[in-house]
Amino acid sequence: MQYKKIKEILIGSNNDGKIKEIKDLLPKKLKIYTPKKFKIKSPKETGNTFRKNSYLKAKYFSKKTGKICLADDSGLEIYVLNKLPGIYSARWAGKKNNFDLAIDKVYKKLKKKPIWKNKKIKARFVCALTIYWPNGKFIYSIGKIDGQISKNKLGKKGFGYDPIFIPEGKKLTFGQIKPSLKYKIDHRFKAFKKLKNFIY
Ligand code: IMP
Repeated sequence: MQYKKIKEILIGSNNDGKIKEIKDLLPKKLKIYTPKKFKIKSPKETGNTFRKNSYLKAKYFSKKTGKICLADDSGLEIYVLNKLPGIYSARWAGKKNNFDLAIDKVYKKLKKKPIWKNKKIKARFVCALTIYWPNGKFIYSIGKIDGQISKNKLGKKGFGYDPIFIPEGKKLTFGQIKPSLKYKIDHRFKAFKKLKNFIY
């Protein structure tokens, strides 16, 4: 299918951490809008997969604004917790987006598992991206990064669950790693790479 290269785009998110990271991944010459400018709240995430939720957000914001929209749905999957918090990653932080609360919840659940004491707690971040055009066309991609949960919350960089996630092959959490390095290896970057041709 033929698509014109995108010259302006709306980032379909009201999460400042995510917006910052997505902006840094996009070419500087692209004109970027956010829902705040249009005073639009985010829709309810009723999908049962990352992919469905990214589609739902991209479509919603595109329909509301008439703009091409890029939306991400992402989260942390911890295998021993049956892939929770998963699509509920943002919801575990409550209405006030309190990730100290969400991280406490993760540790509380993990400490009940025998594996907690001496084994690696395997986890991964997943990111689904959808670009939705006002004419109803859309494309999507998925990116993943494997790693483990740190035994302690470490580092103040990044956002969300960054202070408890150690990517495979590294010793530091995403909360300790420079954002410029994180952006080059993480789930969002990997999902982005697959959509690059449509944007650049
Ligand atoms: P949603 O995609 O708006 O449902 O939110 C996903 C949630 O997953 C975010 O609010 C973060 O808590 C978490 N999350 C997604 N990507 C990352 C990341 O790169 N670092 C830390 N937390 C993340």
